[in-house]
Amino acid sequence: MNSNPLKKVMILGCGISGRGAAKLAVEKKYQIVLADKADTEELRHFAETIGAETCFGWKEGLSLPVADLAVVSPGIPIRSAMADAARKSCAEVTGELGFAFRHIQCPVVAITGTNGKTTTTELTTQLFRAAGFKAESAGNIGLSLSEAVLSSLKHPLDCLIVETSSFQLESVSEYRPAAAALLNIASDHINRHGSMEEYARVKFSIFGSCPGHAVLNADLLPEWHSRFPGLPDPLTFSAKDTEADFTLQDGWILFRGKRIFERKDSALPGPHNTENIMAALALLCSAAGAEFLFKPEISGALRSFRPDAHRLEFFAEKNGIRYCDDSKATNPHSVVAALRSIGEESNVILLLGGLDKDMDFHELDVCKDSVRKAFLYGQCRQKIFDALSGNFDCTLCDSFEDTVSLACSCARAGEIVLLSPACASMDMFRNYAQRGDRFKELVRNAVR
Ligand code: ADP
Repeated sequence: MNSNPLKKVMILGCGISGRGAAKLAVEKKYQIVLADKADTEELRHFAETIGAETCFGWKEGLSLPVADLAVVSPGIPIRSAMADAARKSCAEVTGELGFAFRHIQCPVVAITGTNGKTTTTELTTQLFRAAGFKAESAGNIGLSLSEAVLSSLKHPLDCLIVETSSFQLESVSEYRPAAAALLNIASDHINRHGSMEEYARVKFSIFGSCPGHAVLNADLLPEWHSRFPGLPDPLTFSAKDTEADFTLQDGWILFRGKRIFERKDSALPGPHNTENIMAALALLCSAAGAEFLFKPEISGALRSFRPDAHRLEFFAEKNGIRYCDDSKATNPHSVVAALRSIGEESNVILLLGGLDKDMDFHELDVCKDSVRKAFLYGQCRQKIFDALSGNFDCTLCDSFEDTVSLACSCARAGEIVLLSPACASMDMFRNYAQRGDRFKELVRNAVR
């Protein structure tokens, strides 16, 4: 018997999130329809194993089956023909995050921002564990929130730390994290959200229902005041000289003037990671209490945390030249973070390019002094050239292989060859990891 007041749920998009939602829907005894533009053997097999009806091979102009609720995967924009069709045929439409949230049995700590989400989510999970909580990471980080909810039904948790992208936030209204952090906002995904204003609105919507336990980059405080007039200030952090609750002084991370952790003891590089560390600490403080910040287990967790691959990863050195893979830098803001971390006077040979998301490449101008030469490749190389060639010495390249070869042959002792592309990878690669791996392979062959 269906114990749900809703009977039929239609899942739109059958990738990681959609499949997670479908499995959760099975557990919750909904009737299920799977809808996708693709129609593959593999999708049909998945539908069969969970006993779902299907609407595969959907095209614009066709209707979708009638259902009580449509669950939209983050890959499907909320203002798309498919989402419009779902609004016509379903009584209610939500995102995968919203659907999962209806069934969650533990508090959620949510993290969003243009950059630093994955690093901060993983670090926050480590801090909560060190503080004695049963915590797992989920969301935009490999394990969908639906799958995490499903597994937490069997193995109960104290909290879920959820990396939350703008694509996920766009389609949910019922997401109510116990605490939430907004790390930063810079140009990215404008092709999806339409404008910088709309992108920022979606990012700030993470606080919609929990402004009492909010964590915010101090740079964004004026925007907070105009969006939430009259509400108390969030906990703020800043690695600059800006006033904030979490600050950096004399090499120490402080909470309201009290020392928590000596920055040099973390393996995470750069000022941007100082802010990620502060945000993770602030979430712990906001959700669990300030007393946890000063426990030795927390310093221990910060000391032992290691950065993930493809994020400012130095992987080779030869003849005084160092090679760094920052393939996860898929927007200009993260390239600025990279150059501020490792750039000195003209010491970087920069490889930039890939798939544009209507981003503003002029954001890179602030770092022009640290780049001796930039090699541009991929779908939007001409757009980057047009934006940067007034300030940077740019060379347009034909292929990724040529780009790496030219960059390696022009580098001199003392310099860094840095892949920090400022763009998505899907014009040439499956994902950023494949791009980073190919870069490493080409460099190793070139410098052998
Ligand atoms: P996300 O999950 O938001 O993409 P990651 O932690 O995977 O964030 O990092 C993505 C890229 O952004 C990497 O190149 C990393 O060096 C850079 N980065 C990480 N944190 C920040 C930050 N707070 N500000 C700017 N860039 C950052």
